[in-house]
Amino acid sequence: MKTDVVVIGAGVIGGAVAFELAKSGRSVVIVDKGSAAGAGSTSASSAIIRFSYSTLDAVLMAWESAPKWENWSDYLGVVDPDGMAKFIRTGYLVYRTQGYSGEAVRKIWEEIGIPHEILSADQLRKKFPALDAGSYWPPKKIDDPAFGDDAVGELSGLYDPLSGFMDDPMLAAHNYVYAAKHHGAETRFKSEVVSIDNDGKRITGVTLLGGEKIEAAIVVNVAGPHASKINRMAGVADEMNIRHRPLRQEVYVAPAPNGFKLEDDAPVVADLDTGIYFRPHPGGTLNLGGTEPACDELHWVEDADDWRQETTVEIWETMMLRLARRMPDFGVPVSPSGIGALYDATDDWVPIYDRSSLDGFFMACGTSGNQFKNAPLAAIFIRLLIEAAEAGKNHDDEPVRYVGPRSGKEINIGSFSRLRQALVTSGTVMG
Ligand SMILES: Cc1cc2nc3c(=O)[nH]c(=O)nc-3n(C[C@H](O)[C@H](O)[C@H](O)COP(=O)(O)OP(=O)(O)OC[C@H]3O[C@@H](n4cnc5c(N)ncnc54)[C@H](O)[C@@H]3O)c2cc1C
Repeated sequence: MKTDVVVIGAGVIGGAVAFELAKSGRSVVIVDKGSAAGAGSTSASSAIIRFSYSTLDAVLMAWESAPKWENWSDYLGVVDPDGMAKFIRTGYLVYRTQGYSGEAVRKIWEEIGIPHEILSADQLRKKFPALDAGSYWPPKKIDDPAFGDDAVGELSGLYDPLSGFMDDPMLAAHNYVYAAKHHGAETRFKSEVVSIDNDGKRITGVTLLGGEKIEAAIVVNVAGPHASKINRMAGVADEMNIRHRPLRQEVYVAPAPNGFKLEDDAPVVADLDTGIYFRPHPGGTLNLGGTEPACDELHWVEDADDWRQETTVEIWETMMLRLARRMPDFGVPVSPSGIGALYDATDDWVPIYDRSSLDGFFMACGTSGNQFKNAPLAAIFIRLLIEAAEAGKNHDDEPVRYVGPRSGKEINIGSFSRLRQALVTSGTVMG
């Protein structure tokens, strides 16, 4: 089989890349070892669409991607007969705490013109009566004798009214793949890439488990938590300045108390004061995840095919009790409802959208638990990087730039380079 492009991975970002490249007229084969689009780490995603990152390029990426989620079927140009994922606007509240003041983010929002307001503790309680405004910093383990201490002071919040989430991340990936197929892309599920074929200088294609070869001059590594394995297969891992590795997480669903349901206009909340993020979800529930506070161990995984998918009692209890601190009416459920999942986390929690020294081999990886929202722009970046390489430009020396239509501002794609020095960020999933 022969094609212009092989995209490895049918997650939300692989689907987006396939859509963008097929739309621009290339023949594309999407190869995934799983059995459905979005069944990898995308299926566990909280799918929050927010604009709060530590660097201008990252904020712009989210700000420029958001209209595509809001106008999902117009952007895709198709309606998937299996259903369409939907953007739900909720707004986004960040507690301004000692470890994360949100000030760097606020300054970037000012510069771009992203609407926001600072809520005093009183305003915060009034706008979101289900939420407590106490300061419990620093986040603690539940066996810490200080875990239940009274709040020491109060917190204000940084609020933006335009954020929200996609109601079904796996369906969003399915929609992307459907739209890519509409432009002629083909899918090969249950097909594992076991070799990245090349002549020492250029990509020639991939080999699948079982021996079949797909010839292609371009291969894009969008293998999520398996991406570092694919980069090693391609022989490009050693040239990278930034590491990316699978990091195990647990995310939970729980009944939302009155006042924190979608119909109560509850926001997405980032609470680094207690070490959690959470958001309302349809059906009277809420979704909850962690923000890597210093007291919690990071669970790095050696092999993305060998890790515990079930949740653990320790993490479940910790997350539930942290939420109960922040939301006094939250009733801790009697048993856990959640899953284990993997991030592909980089050293600085910023993704890698880049070429490589192997001509024709590109990567969209290291998405660090925070790039669902950026799939639309990630796909455009990969297309621009491919076009630049074909035009004989060396992105490593002269980074490709993209001007966002919403902001009119330039994004330096080089800020997502594999060769960058680690950027100064929150050092957490917040990016
Ligand atoms: C728990 C959790 C919560 C998150 N919350 C948010 C959030 O709120 N907001 C946000 O913006 N981002 C969030 N993210 C991050 C976001 O969901 C991910 O960045 C995104 O889904 C990654 O998509 P992907 O397409 O790169 O990878 P994946 O969805 O993991 O897809 C990779 C695909 O590659 C396939 N594959 C791997 N190896 C091979 C191989 N050798 N051959 C063939 N196929 C292969 C896999 O089967 C898989 O389907 C979260 C992530 C997690 C895990």
